[in-house]
Amino acid sequence: MTSRMEALFDIRTVMMSVGLMLVAASVGMATAARMMPRFASLPLWTLVFLLQGCGMLLSSLRGAIATLLAILLSNLLMGAGQVLMPFALARDLAQPCPVRRLGLATLAGALLYGYAYWITPWTELRTGAVSILGTAAFLLCAQMVRAHLRKPASPGVAWGMLFPLLIIGLIHLVGLTLSGWHVLHNPPAPEAYPGAAVLTSGPARMPLLLVGALCIVALAFSVILHVALRLNLELQHQATHDALTGLSNRIGFEQAATRLLAAHQRQQKPCALLFMDLDHFKQINDQHGHAAGDHVLGSFAALLRRELRQDDLVARFGGEEFCVFLPETTPAQAGQIAQRLCDAALQLQPVWQQVPIRLSISVGLALPGEHHRTLHSLLVAADHALYAAKDAGRNRVVLAA
Ligand code: GH3
Ligand code: MG
Ligand code: MG
Repeated sequence: MTSRMEALFDIRTVMMSVGLMLVAASVGMATAARMMPRFASLPLWTLVFLLQGCGMLLSSLRGAIATLLAILLSNLLMGAGQVLMPFALARDLAQPCPVRRLGLATLAGALLYGYAYWITPWTELRTGAVSILGTAAFLLCAQMVRAHLRKPASPGVAWGMLFPLLIIGLIHLVGLTLSGWHVLHNPPAPEAYPGAAVLTSGPARMPLLLVGALCIVALAFSVILHVALRLNLELQHQATHDALTGLSNRIGFEQAATRLLAAHQRQQKPCALLFMDLDHFKQINDQHGHAAGDHVLGSFAALLRRELRQDDLVARFGGEEFCVFLPETTPAQAGQIAQRLCDAALQLQPVWQQVPIRLSISVGLALPGEHHRTLHSLLVAADHALYAAKDAGRNRVVLAA
């Protein structure tokens, strides 16, 4: 099996291919970084893949180029790429980076590496030192992604990062064990040229390297997908939410309320719709300024959040108009809630530059039934009721016909 694999691939070619793959991944990251400048992690990821790729390429050239470049610089580049990785991931997942544990592993790896490079030249021990850092970096990253996946709203694509990180971490761990075993049983051996042993013991490492290469591609792909998905979620949030109050906007409200209404009709549960408008809001703007008007809108939105249940769907429909869909609410309860909001708005008196601003609202209340089967007809009915409340003198609730 081993000799057949050896005949098919030699370790130098595989190392070189993995190096090129990492460099190609870094080009992908750099392109993504240019296209999505908001994501500060992408330039770091570019460096992570580029450093490791260049390191691997140099390492594959051992025996053919200067030892200093092929061994020392290549390991330095790979190590730097691995140390940077948790920092990139921490930015991506908005988590603290496990700096202390990473620092300890780096120190242990560096000391061992220094010993195996300068004091007793020993390829296997050097490989062990590099594996310590690799194990720590990849497994710490896997742990960070696991913590991220425990959050309720985390995108499932993060699994695509977790598995490659875990597998590469375990490969480094196996490499560490193999090198450790070798070091314990064999004294430092003379080599044809420094680092030749890595290439001659290649076939044993070949499957690990191939699996690692596959995981690197999966990791790069998942990182870009994860970032793009986050961007998509943010855009979706912006499209369905109001920037001033943080409530749903008209689009978000209509999407969610349509689903809720259909579910209530299917299950024959009662629900209600409130359409509210701040009274004489233009006067507030005219008297106190537009910023005061914005402050009043924000205060009223906060009042709605306070007064209503978590399940109630609250939205700023436009300008100074607000909508609420009340799930599992009887007509009597809906009337009480609407009146409570009217009273609370009167009490609110948001303060702007030490001046309390008087506020009142008019509310149209519509209930689904024979005449109002769709959200659109409910909204029209609630809007008519709202105008009736305005006509009747404002600061009141009117039930739609
Ligand atoms: P009514 O009691 O009949 O509702 O009178 P009103 O003054 O509240 O209604 P009108 O439609 O005449 O005026 C609404 C005002 O709301 C006009 C507009 O400038 C203001 N407005 C809309 N959006 C915003 C906003 O985001 N911030 C501020 N400050 N004002 C806004
Ligand atoms: Mg108004
Ligand atoms: Mg209005």
